[in-house]
Amino acid sequence: MIVSEVGGSGWRVSGRGSMGESGAMPTSAADLLSAAYADADRTIELRRQLHRFPEIGLELPHTQGTVLDAFAGLPIAVTTGKTTSSVVGVLRGERPGPSYLLRADMDALPVPEDTGLPFASEIPGVMHACGHDTHVAMLLGAARLLADRRDELAGQVVFMVQPGEEGFHGARYMLEEGLLDAVPEAPVTGAFALHITSSFASGSINVRPGPMMAAADQWRMVVRGRGGHASMPHHAADPIPVAAEIVLALQSMVTRRVDVFDPAVVTVAHIAAGTTSNVIPDSAFLEGTIRTLSAERRAQVLAGVQRVATHVAAAHEMSVEFEHVEGYPVTVNDAGVAAQVLETAADLLGPRASALMPVPLMGAEDFSYVLQRVPGAMAFLGACPPGVEPESAPGNHSNLVVFDEEPLPAGVALYARMALQALAG
Ligand SMILES: [Zn+2]
Repeated sequence: MIVSEVGGSGWRVSGRGSMGESGAMPTSAADLLSAAYADADRTIELRRQLHRFPEIGLELPHTQGTVLDAFAGLPIAVTTGKTTSSVVGVLRGERPGPSYLLRADMDALPVPEDTGLPFASEIPGVMHACGHDTHVAMLLGAARLLADRRDELAGQVVFMVQPGEEGFHGARYMLEEGLLDAVPEAPVTGAFALHITSSFASGSINVRPGPMMAAADQWRMVVRGRGGHASMPHHAADPIPVAAEIVLALQSMVTRRVDVFDPAVVTVAHIAAGTTSNVIPDSAFLEGTIRTLSAERRAQVLAGVQRVATHVAAAHEMSVEFEHVEGYPVTVNDAGVAAQVLETAADLLGPRASALMPVPLMGAEDFSYVLQRVPGAMAFLGACPPGVEPESAPGNHSNLVVFDEEPLPAGVALYARMALQALAG
């Protein structure tokens, strides 16, 4: 059950009224935050350990080993993935109830790290440039806090530690392996994830109801013409002006066919044709991305890109071979859970730390697969380093990105608090 209308101090008052059978007083927001900060050294140490040895994709044996070591000793039943290096932990509360999922991703990026940090990557060409190392460290910090508070839990906390978020659909593999039924008698009924970013003020929690991140689809196309001498284009079928026309027609399609209140981005990111100045090539290659914020718009724009390209080419007696590479769906936050995140963040960290995002981000996230199945939310934890403005700090995925570690315990407390509220009984 999702507690969706908790209020600042109101939760503490009603929390006392619904005290567990053990009679223990539910942990207050202030005490939870203090406990997270008291454990900060372990959180930061785990983060740095992961940061030094990043891995990419679905097979992360070293990272998985570190995660399993971090779970060891906790009263948490841990299983590993069959098809990937995923890890699932189940913490059973003292009373029965539903299951609530907390997620961290753990994969890195093919980026050579240039931060100069003392714990910088020791793996050439690979870097935790999206901060997933911090997500694992915060999730494990929350696992320790929650394991100490099993008497306050009516139900189970499912810890989802996933590989392959960066384009490898790691969450989908975990769902196919039965993630939501990790507790067979109590399927997962709610979920929460945090994502760190250097682009928001350190210590801020940023979230919005509804679309939070975009769907991302890749496409590729080959315009088929006919090669020939550059001096005699009428004897050839030149695909280059047709490719150029397609690029412009796609932009007109977006501005003329797409409702501005349910927007889309179509970017042609790569175009290649020809070899030299006096030869007309026989084909031109284009590829790019489509970003949308609803399933309807996603289907419309995908069909539109293919239609426009095909018909522009046909107007010049050429053809197009089109390929779509399906990316992640739209990440949609449940409105009630997003409101709960804002209230919980204010309760833990003060009202200034709790920020309603005015617009979604057009990046994509595979936690979207989880949120298609259960109501929940993803929030951004701001971690802009001291002395830098969020607008100018090197962003996620940069070879220079640095995340402030100071707010990591705040993230730990937020993860834990979300679960404690959902499983308050
Ligand atoms: Zn990420």
